[in-house]
Formats: sequence, structure tokens, C-alpha cells
Amino acid sequence: MTDQTLPKRILLGPGPSPVDERVLRALSQPLLGHLDPLFLRIMDQIQELLRYVFETRNRLTIPISGTGSAGMEAALINLLEPGDKAVVCINGVFGERMFDIVGRTGAEPIAVRAEWGHPIDVGQIEDALKQSRPKVLAIVHAETSTGVLQKLEGLADLAHAHDTLLIVDAVTSLGGHPVRVDANGVDVCYSGTQKCLSCPPGLSPITFSERAVERIRSRRQKVQSWYLDMSMIEKYWGSDRSYHHTAPISMNYALLEALRIVREEGLEARQARHQLNHRAFVAGVEAMGLSMLVAPKSRLWSLNAVRIPEGVDDQRLRTHLLERHNIEIGGGLGPLKGKVWRVGLMGAGSSRENVVLVIGAIHEALAEQGHTCPPGVASAEQVYELGA
Ligand SMILES: *Cc1c(COP(=O)(O)O)cnc(C)c1O
Repeated sequence: MTDQTLPKRILLGPGPSPVDERVLRALSQPLLGHLDPLFLRIMDQIQELLRYVFETRNRLTIPISGTGSAGMEAALINLLEPGDKAVVCINGVFGERMFDIVGRTGAEPIAVRAEWGHPIDVGQIEDALKQSRPKVLAIVHAETSTGVLQKLEGLADLAHAHDTLLIVDAVTSLGGHPVRVDANGVDVCYSGTQKCLSCPPGLSPITFSERAVERIRSRRQKVQSWYLDMSMIEKYWGSDRSYHHTAPISMNYALLEALRIVREEGLEARQARHQLNHRAFVAGVEAMGLSMLVAPKSRLWSLNAVRIPEGVDDQRLRTHLLERHNIEIGGGLGPLKGKVWRVGLMGAGSSRENVVLVIGAIHEALAEQGHTCPPGVASAEQVYELGA
């Protein structure tokens, strides 16, 4: 492995996303100790920039040491105690994962479901809240397994009216779509580094509202996970600076650099870029006679699920893209296996160059299987020419 040069893949799957050279260079900086004053400053800068991307003033805003799933687990396990109820919205893989975690805490998960490819119906959420008066309402903002965006507006008011805290999974939206933690009244929001933040996988940014912190403080029993117990982790990231576990030093360097890049571009400009490239991609897909899985009003900009046309071999096309074009795209999961491709346009990967490249490559790979269709590149280009 050390003397093998790996190819530079163009990562247009469900994550990880392409990483800027600046972030890779940050990873190779000399190590500092986890209590070195210079590292403590880096931690402060990370917290400040995370508040910027989450659009929050929450004091407890840190990166969990672990991937996005660690953030998911931290959110649920800190807020729930055995016997509590939690309403979990499920319309894809990640809602299912939350449901599984809730059960492991000893709390009772109550599912509100929608068909994969569709958003959750707010009326059904309201009914579930009325019926069970849960401690927590958990929902995925950007369902990476299907490409569905869930609107967050109004959910917090519904939850808070029932004395319920709102947990939002923003793993595939933070840095690509507006998340607006404070404006949307979200109590706990977590993300991952390797999607729209364009950093390698390994950390999970998370933020807790004062309501959520209060809930943790008033727990009757300890959090079952020692490693993810926020009451201990916050002492290292807060003013105590007391050792809990050794922070993944290099990953934190990388995250800081990735967040600086987000700041330099500006959150709104970055979101607008994700939207524009998504629109161009869809134009290209539709010009080729292919169709999107999700209805226009619920489409993610960061993850595009394209229906696989009849008679086309899923794996063969993806292998073609990887081997001939160095492009990775994702396949479908669960009920969508073999039915859709998942094309991620996340972070640094969301560019005009990549949209044109992947549309052209898909067209070629379809032709290679004998599936002829009109080309899509010109239609994608036209979206850029006409502008936003
Ligand atoms: C990727 C993802 C996760 C899990 O993150 P890992 O880094 O793979 O642990 C959770 N939720 C959503 C919506 C995701 O897309």
C-alpha cells in the first residue's frame, strides 16, 4: 500500500466527497498534543466555524470523534433514557438506523413512515406526537439513500408544543443546503465531515440547544455509552479542558481547513452553487430521457437519485464509469437496489466540470450497453449559460 500510487477518483457517490488539496495538506501537519495550547486554539476555531455553518449560537457545538453515525448515536443516547418514547421518521436507510439506535437505548421507538423516495407527511408526525407525547422527535433532513429533502420549517414548533425535543440528521445537507439550526428551532443537529463539508470521514459535527443541554443535565441515570457521554466530552471542549479521550488531532486540522474553505466561499454562495449544479445535472439527465426518482419539490441538491432505465445493467454501468472515467457513483440501497443510481454533487464535488463529465460519461456508458439516447451535456450547459 505505501508504495502503491492510488488513482485520483472523482467521488460523485453518496460520500465521501472530493477533498481540496488544502485539506489534504492540513492532514500532514506535525502533530500537537491534545492539550497543547496551540491545539486548544484550533479547537476554539473549529467550534466557532461550526457555529457558523450550523447557523447557531449554541455553546455546545463540537465535532464528535467518529463518523456521522457516531453523531447520530450521540444525539439519541444522550437525550433518551430507558422507558422514554421517541418518534422516529423513516423514509430510507438513515431513519431505519435511528430507529435501531433508539431501541438499543432502552427507549421505545415509534415509527412514522413514508415510502422511500417521498418526504414524511407532517400531519402524520403531528398525530404521532399527540398520541405518544414522546421525549424526542428524530428526522433526517437529507435522506442520502433516496435523495429526499425533508422541510424543517414548523417541525420544532410542533415538537415543542408537545414538550418534545427535535433531533435532525443533517449529514448530507450541512454545507450544501440551508439547515439553520437556530432559525428552525432544532435541539440537536449532527452532520458528518465527508459529505458537503468536503473533508475526509472521521468526525461528526454536532450541536445541542440549551433545552437539550438541560435535558442531559436532568437525566436520572448515566448515558449508557462512556465514549459518547456529552456531559464528559463537553468538559474537554469547554473551559475545563480536562482529558476525556485523545482527540483525533490530524482530523481536526483537516476539519478546520475544510470549514475555513466554507467560510471563504460563504455559506449562501455554497448553497447556491449546490443548487445550480443540481439543476444542470437534472437537465442533463432528463435530456437523455432518464428520470429522477424524487418529485422536484423534494429533491436534494447534494444527492441525485436517477432511475435506471429498463434493460440497463446497474453494476456494469458503475464499473464502466469507475474503470474508464475514474468516476464513482453510488447504487441503490434496500428496495431501491438495482433501481436507481445515486449521484452525489457534494462540497468540492459540486462543480460544472463534474456535472458535464458525469453526464457525458453516463451517456457513453449507456451506449456501451446498447442503450441509445440523446446526449445530455448541451442541456446541462444551457442551465449555466442561462444562469441562476
Ligand atoms: C452518511 C450518512 C450517515 C452516516 O454517516 P457515516 O459517516 O457513514 O457514519 C448518517 N445519516 C445520513 C443521512 C448520511 O447520509
